[in-house]
Amino acid sequence: MRLVDVHCHLESDVFSGRLDSIIAGAKEAGIVKLITSSIVPEEWELSESIARRYALVEFALGVHPWYGREGDEDRIGELAHSRERGAVGIGEIGLDKKTLAVPMELQKRLFERQLSIAREIDLPVIVHCRGAFDELHFYLKKTGLPARGGVIHSFSGSVEIAVEFMKYGFSFSFGGALTYRNSRKKEAVLKAVYPDHLMLETDSPDIPPVEAKNAPNVPANILYNLRAASEILGESEECIAAATTANAARMFGFSAD
Ligand SMILES: [Zn+2]
Repeated sequence: MRLVDVHCHLESDVFSGRLDSIIAGAKEAGIVKLITSSIVPEEWELSESIARRYALVEFALGVHPWYGREGDEDRIGELAHSRERGAVGIGEIGLDKKTLAVPMELQKRLFERQLSIAREIDLPVIVHCRGAFDELHFYLKKTGLPARGGVIHSFSGSVEIAVEFMKYGFSFSFGGALTYRNSRKKEAVLKAVYPDHLMLETDSPDIPPVEAKNAPNVPANILYNLRAASEILGESEECIAAATTANAARMFGFSAD
């Protein structure tokens, strides 16, 4: 089986000095690619260097809505060179109404600017959206997604939102939250987006699956997420692995052989 973890944070201090074994574990689990996403400009170089060190790793550059600062607007222009740097996406970017740490006005400015750059250089976006689907919809209509599309990670919206957002080129990735197997809404959403718009993620070191909830999450735990998706969809793990890996490879432009 070949798997792609489309969203994790290998830059995290949690993984410092442990990446060799984390990546070896990912490989053993069948992961052929993982996309690590930076959250602040100070991490961009680290993301790039991790991807250079491990053939399995691709990277995305961006400013996360929880960590945006006024000064970031000056640095965001550098994202126009992401493609030359070897990035496969712009992320993690987004909008989060549930955080009080960063005012919505600033989140919106940073998001719109990053979305525009992603469109200009046509790199897919990796989006975090919590409680702000109306606002995200507004920017889909105003700015639009890059031609290559984008993925909303750990998607928490409704079937209606998923169906509407697919028209703009969004896919949806799911991780540890699936393993709680407690949501009818999630089941309906998964069925609406499978097979062509579903991807898998771990968001390591965050959101560990219930089976491994007492330690920081690692990419190898994607197997628990895959198993949960298989139970929810009533499809074999092999079929889901093949579909989600093909979807990720197509959007992010890498080979997953
Ligand atoms: Zn994340």
